[in-house]
Amino acid sequence: MTHDPGTPDTCKDPPRDELSTDEARARILGAVTPVAERERLALGDALGRVIAADVPSPIDVPGHTNSAVDGYALRGDELTDGARFEIVGRALAGHPFDGAVSPGSCVAITTGAAVPDGADTVVMQEDSDAQDTAILVRRACGRGDNVRRAGEDIPAGGVVARASDRITPPLLGVLASLGLGEVEVYGRPRVAVFSTGDEIREPGESLPRGCVYDSNRYTLRALLAGPGVEIVDLGLIPDDREQLRHALSEAAAVSDAILTSGGVSVGEADFIKEILAELGAVAFWKLAIKPGRPLTFGALGNSLFFGLPGNPVAAMVTFLQFVQPALDKLSGATPQPPLRLRARCRDHLRKRPGRREFQRAILTQDDSGRLEVALTGRQGSGVLTSMSLANCLIVLTEEQESIDPGTEVGVELLPWARIATAPSS
Ligand code: AMP
Ligand code: MG
Repeated sequence: MTHDPGTPDTCKDPPRDELSTDEARARILGAVTPVAERERLALGDALGRVIAADVPSPIDVPGHTNSAVDGYALRGDELTDGARFEIVGRALAGHPFDGAVSPGSCVAITTGAAVPDGADTVVMQEDSDAQDTAILVRRACGRGDNVRRAGEDIPAGGVVARASDRITPPLLGVLASLGLGEVEVYGRPRVAVFSTGDEIREPGESLPRGCVYDSNRYTLRALLAGPGVEIVDLGLIPDDREQLRHALSEAAAVSDAILTSGGVSVGEADFIKEILAELGAVAFWKLAIKPGRPLTFGALGNSLFFGLPGNPVAAMVTFLQFVQPALDKLSGATPQPPLRLRARCRDHLRKRPGRREFQRAILTQDDSGRLEVALTGRQGSGVLTSMSLANCLIVLTEEQESIDPGTEVGVELLPWARIATAPSS
């Protein structure tokens, strides 16, 4: 069955059997446990993976007390304006001075070089006058100044990353700075994906009358792409009970989560729910959300099952709202509620109370920093260009009604968002 999203809802409140977005997300997260597998990975392969055990630092960072500036290392208690110190040696980064600094003497030192024994302070080069083998201090600094102490950033034994942290570029750098060659991470969840529908065709092939090209497997695979997930692509399955049974059983055997699209409404060829009930368990299948009302969630063997709607926008919106947080938790990470910004809406938005609505829109920032948002155009749940033009979703809460231009609305950024700046209007 197709949904015509342009048609206004006929009833004011959603039927009682429709779950709210928040309740559905909470129930899904309640059903997810992180994958059991752990693996030790070479650091170079660990970007985007989720740390499985707290990481204590094996060393002090910095590893030795060192100079923060180019200057002269000396004893801070001898420092006064005009004081004179004999230069007894040099300490360069990677080439420490082996002796000790005795009273009245100093060591020329460069940034990052180890502060020699006996010294506790570095006078900046700019605050002293060098005379052959000695310096005259023009401006004294405080005792201990311009010195970075060993362990000041991270003491040995201090926890630098926790289980459930996802490895970002800087965290990868932090782990490298500790000299760690490997890190223990959660295994990658395996996610099986297939599209359903007798009318669905593979891009690149010819398109018989009445058929449509598969876009959902491409958007869903693209949303899953990255180091955190292993994708199992099971292709296109027609609206045929036997083939769907077979595909679902195969998917359950090889995956931690199954994503299908299409076949979850109440049309005569919508078999997904019925087969899930037969082979596994259906938790719920109707949501008070637009687009995306017929989302089927349940379990099949040891796999989570998400039967996403066939309409391309609905499939993406429900992926972002429900599947993404579930996959985060499955990966061992802590799912974060979506960041919700407020922006002034330029358009009139039609809405009846009852469902949460996600309208595709473009967020811009004017030169005074104010956020403004405007619809991308037609909002049908089959209009995939409404998504490709958008950088955000306007979120209208269940109780909200139609709004006039100039009203503030909530927006959630899309993962690929780039925010353009526009002159103030
Ligand atoms: P369904 O949920 O199976 O009733 O499908 C709803 C609408 O989405 C129909 O117009 C389908 O043709 C369309 N649709 C279903 N699956 C896909 C897909 N993989 N790619 C593009 N459109 C689809
Ligand atoms: Mg279908």
